[in-house]
Order: sequence, then C-alpha cells, then structure tokens
Amino acid sequence: SKKIVIKIGSSTITSEDGTIDKEFIKNLAPQIKSLMDSGKRVILVSSGARIAGVSTIGKWSRKEDINYKQALCAIGQVELMDSYRKIFGEYGLHIAQVLLTKEDFESTSRTLNIRNTLFTLLDEGVVPIINENDTVCVEEIKIGDNDLMAARTSELWGGDLLIILSDIVGIYDKSPTENKDAKLIEIVNDPYDLEKNISIGKNSSFGTGGIATKIKAAKIVTPYGTSLIVARGKQKNIILDLSEGKEKGTLFL
Ligand code: ADP
Repeated sequence: SKKIVIKIGSSTITSEDGTIDKEFIKNLAPQIKSLMDSGKRVILVSSGARIAGVSTIGKWSRKEDINYKQALCAIGQVELMDSYRKIFGEYGLHIAQVLLTKEDFESTSRTLNIRNTLFTLLDEGVVPIINENDTVCVEEIKIGDNDLMAARTSELWGGDLLIILSDIVGIYDKSPTENKDAKLIEIVNDPYDLEKNISIGKNSSFGTGGIATKIKAAKIVTPYGTSLIVARGKQKNIILDLSEGKEKGTLFL
C-alpha cells in the first residue's frame, strides 16, 4: 500500500490572527481518514508550535532569544497536539506525538527505533504527527525546517509520496506575491534545473524555509523514486482533489 508523508506548514495551520486554524484541521481529518480507509498509510509532519505558543502566552511574543523561542515551542506543541487530538478524535482517529532532532536521523540505533515505533503506530491505525524537538536543539544542530524534517522522515520510512502543504498553489517561476504575471510550474523532472531557472522571493510572514527548502526536500526524496507535491493547504479537500487531478500543484517526479 502507498506510504504518504504530509507536511503542514505554519501558514497552513495558522489563522490570520495567529491562532491554530481549527477549520483547517476539521477539513484535514476526514481526508486523512479517507486515505487510510483506502489502504494508504499516512504520517503527518506539522509546524505551528511556536506560533501557537505565542498566541497562548502573548506577552512573550517579542522576546527573540533562543530559550524563549524554545519555551514558546514547548507551550505551543501542547496546544497544537490538543487541537489535532480533539478533531481527529471526532473521526475515530488516534494521534501520536513524535518529536525528533537531526541527531536522531544520524544514529543507526535511533533510526531503527523511530522506524519500529512508526511501523507499530501505523499497524494500529494511529496517525503519527512529527515535529522537531526544539527543547533539546540549538540553532546550529537543528534540521531547521519541517520541509526537511518531512523529507528525512520519508527517506527513513521509504515513503512513496511527500505532500508539502503551504500557502501557495505551487512553485512559480518567480514569487507570486511580488509578481502578478508569475507562472505556476506544474511538473518538475529535475530540482537542480528548476532552482537555476526560477527566482525565489521572500517567505510568507509565518513561514521559515520558503521555497528553497521545498526544492531541497525534493533533492532528498526524488532519488529514491519518491514524488513530491507542493500544494495550497487551505484549499478545501486539497489532498483528495490532488489525487483525483481536480486541483493543481507542483509535482516533482
Ligand atoms: P510554509 O510555512 O508553508 O512552509 P513559506 O512561507 O516558508 O511556507 O514558503 C511559501 C512562500 O514562499 C509563499 O507564500 C510565497 O510568497 C513565497 N515564494 C517566494 N518565491 C516563490 C516562488 N518562486 N514560487 C512560489 N512561492 C514563492
């Protein structure tokens, strides 16, 4: 059966007021259920902990030092999982929190443990939700972006498809927010070639890695024969519509 990793970006999981977008999760849960009912296995990688932390403890939002950032992630991670747990529960789905670091992917015994835990969760029909374990990571040793966390997860698990949900329809030849005539690139055969031929603008206000890390993720997974799709997360029913060809995105083959 098909193994799918779905990465949910900060801009997708957050509302405009900086709180967790429950409507998005309400739309996501039945789609995941439907994928699982049709025999597919799904792992989620979700951003949003830090923003959820800021909206919970508003008064800390302006502190920029690393320990405050880590504290905000620790607070927000609970809020994030609470939202997933409640809403996925309404669809009869159990979730599991998996917090990982870069070092976890570099150790043979750890990757074996991660793999065994993921396989067990999936065998039991539970949806693993992965995020970076910010508490134990300083900037220098972080994977740094969940686009790459999702790519590493797909690599470790032997995923068939990686779906990166962002706030744009896909990758354009130039930044669509800064250029009205930007053209969507629907199919990419070579991420290295793509990188040379497009211009990359600024990230969204909540985003971290921007388009560059999405292309980097494609460089990691495509050599394994894993496809990657970048698509607009807030578009209702996006995952199922993509699979039926009803919605567009950027597909890396
Ligand atoms: P996420 O939080 O979902 O990972 P990011 O903010 O990191 O999203 O990256 C997506 C943003 O990158 C888009 O909102 C868009 O404004 C910007 N962007 C810059 N250059 C491009 C481009 N060539 N094609 C598409 N988006 C681009």
